[in-house]
Amino acid sequence: MPQSADQIKDHVKLFQEPEYKEIFDRKKAQFECRPSDADVAAQAEYTKGWEYREKNFAREVAVINPQKACQPLGAVFAAAGFEGTLPYVHGSQGCVAYFRSHLARHLKEAVPIVADSMTEDAAVFGGLNNLVEGLQNAYKLYSPKMIAISTTCMAEVIGDDLSAFIGTAKSAEKAAVPADFPVPFAHTPSFVGSHTTGYDNMMKGILNYFWDRESVKERSADAKINIIPGFDGYAVANNRELKRYLDLMGVEYTLLGDVSDVYDTPSDGEYRMYDGGTSLDDARAAINAKATISLQEYCTPKTLEYCGEKGQTVASFNYPMGIGATDALLMKVAELSGKAIPESIEKERGRLIDAIADSQAWLHGKSFSIYGDPDFTLAMTAFLLEMGCEPKHVLCTNGSAEWEAKAKALLATSPFGAEGQVWRGKDLWHLRSLLFTEPSDFLIGNSYGKYLEKDTGIPLIRLTFPIFDRHHHHRFPTFGYQGALRVLVEILDRIFEVTDASSEISFDLTR
Ligand code: SF4
Repeated sequence: MPQSADQIKDHVKLFQEPEYKEIFDRKKAQFECRPSDADVAAQAEYTKGWEYREKNFAREVAVINPQKACQPLGAVFAAAGFEGTLPYVHGSQGCVAYFRSHLARHLKEAVPIVADSMTEDAAVFGGLNNLVEGLQNAYKLYSPKMIAISTTCMAEVIGDDLSAFIGTAKSAEKAAVPADFPVPFAHTPSFVGSHTTGYDNMMKGILNYFWDRESVKERSADAKINIIPGFDGYAVANNRELKRYLDLMGVEYTLLGDVSDVYDTPSDGEYRMYDGGTSLDDARAAINAKATISLQEYCTPKTLEYCGEKGQTVASFNYPMGIGATDALLMKVAELSGKAIPESIEKERGRLIDAIADSQAWLHGKSFSIYGDPDFTLAMTAFLLEMGCEPKHVLCTNGSAEWEAKAKALLATSPFGAEGQVWRGKDLWHLRSLLFTEPSDFLIGNSYGKYLEKDTGIPLIRLTFPIFDRHHHHRFPTFGYQGALRVLVEILDRIFEVTDASSEISFDLTR
């Protein structure tokens, strides 16, 4: 055998051994019932052309590799950002295994989420018993300070009423959790919206619990500003970067849903099921803030509307990455707080511009295709235009008509956007057709793009959620001027790698 206790091979080498290659060939012949290799190759070639692109874009029912996750995944992410909070999903166990693994693979952290594992009987008779017993177990076993409940499709299809169920669970008869124990909730049906919708629903659900359900609070405006980061795979580093700016400015703020410590616990011999997060008292008091700022407009429409109804000034941004986006955020914070932007931050801005200018010759004219969430794609497009790069395809599976109009308007602000095309509601199989028929120099997105990279030969730059096949990217910020510098370096590194690989004559020491 190629594998022994003295010679342990990882799967990359192991599966190259003749024994395994023979197994693969045999199973392929036995079970795949596939046409000949020549026919497969011919068909693959056909799918690279314009004729197939038109058929592909006429697709109405099938979705292939959509760039969105489902609502409860966003909801559990929002819930995890609060002190001592256990995200709880009312519904199917398999869905929750997917949320846990999706987040854990990206964050390289344990991601505690409980499920009440509804099965066939609950689908017929309703999930009340699951929720009552689940709440009781979760409360007793995991000692949280808050349990935040979202739902899977199964609970939504049968119409389970979370408000009524939680009321029953808290009743004197059931007493699954104390009557005053915080149990905010959000209905998160995944047959509409995406993880960004789920984030919004849960954030609103938590604020609604503290501001209206726990006890009706009268607002007494103070000087604080609430900041809602939105669903962000880089939140561990981005939230810390944001807090660094706010501290440098001396702004009083509450970061609502701060996962930075929750999803980045140290290895020091102690397992922390809960670490950090927005304190529940801060969440209660956040009703008094003079303003609430969302860093991601498309993650928070309902939440911002709710904050506005409470009398707060509200403002939203599209992922503060790049020069203009960071400028706009900092100037808004300065305007709302009355605090000046310190010289140290201005210097960071200047250093970023200096770095872009240093590399201008390599950036100019390079074209990029981008895919991801609505706010990320807008931010990435804007930053590429700032650097003199040319966005080619901007694709957003969960983008709205409003997002589409905004992306087109953004491209129209710069001559570098002249060739840019915007694709709303499309998936990565659509993008494959686009990249074969109208290629770009580079591709920016998440790990799923590695298959497009292999297929089309267009180099992938990994810059959004999820990143499964590289480690620790999320530990470095993309927000702000420092974050933009990191994004710039990632783009440049890829440009130089491609340049080095493309010519023996120009294999230069200095770039
Ligand atoms: S789409 Fe619905 S059924 Fe599928 S994983 Fe999400 S919640 Fe579960």
